Amino acid sequence: MAGNWKMYKTPAETTAFFEKFRPLVEKSEHCEIVICPPFTNIAAAASAAQGTRVRIGAQDLYWAKEGAFTGEVSGPMIKACGCTHVLVGHSERRQYFEETNETVLQRTIAALDAGLTPIVCVGEHLAERETGETEAVLSLQFRAGVGLLSPEQFAGIVIAYEPVWAIGTGKTATPEIAADAHRVLRAQVRARYGPAAGDAVRILYGGSVKPDNARTLMAQPEIDGVLVGGASLDANSFASIVNF
Ligand code: PEP
Repeated sequence: MAGNWKMYKTPAETTAFFEKFRPLVEKSEHCEIVICPPFTNIAAAASAAQGTRVRIGAQDLYWAKEGAFTGEVSGPMIKACGCTHVLVGHSERRQYFEETNETVLQRTIAALDAGLTPIVCVGEHLAERETGETEAVLSLQFRAGVGLLSPEQFAGIVIAYEPVWAIGTGKTATPEIAADAHRVLRAQVRARYGPAAGDAVRILYGGSVKPDNARTLMAQPEIDGVLVGGASLDANSFASIVNF
């Protein structure tokens, strides 16, 4: 169960969030919990999560380890700040910051090389869904992205299916729509990496997940977890999603 805080919260607000959140998920042993705050809050989040089962992720990384890349942050740097995970290829990065399938792959490899678990996001736009292109878009994102990893590398990633039309819009995909997309992705994994990898890969659903729809989404066997944006900013609301 992963939370993406996007560009919200200060370090002090991060500490305050954890004070409320920690007791609410203290017994939540049924899942892994990851919170991805902005870079500026990673240290505060890692310190507040110490001794708990909550893991910290970054929202992006650059693929070089270090160098003259003003404004960028590398995998080893976020790992050294206490991250275990990192989001890669979020649709907001693709939409506003020119992320492509090729750069998603470079970032994914850099994350794996740094010993981080990349949560790689894929998903179609509304127009693509309406013209019946969802399967083709997902297949292309897979083939030109994580489908180029070696089997060993692929075993270290998590996939997040996030239909762009459902992110931050309040329009959740129905559990059936989400499960269909997960099946498409899992079929790609099976075809490329074999049946065992298809069974093992974890695919999260993201897009307007809230406390009142988490349970029906999680009831779909195809859905292994959720990636939550807006609703992860509030400790009570994210805890009730975690404890669906
Ligand atoms: C996200 O940012 O990954 C996301 C799914 O956002 P929201 O839950 O707000 O739709």
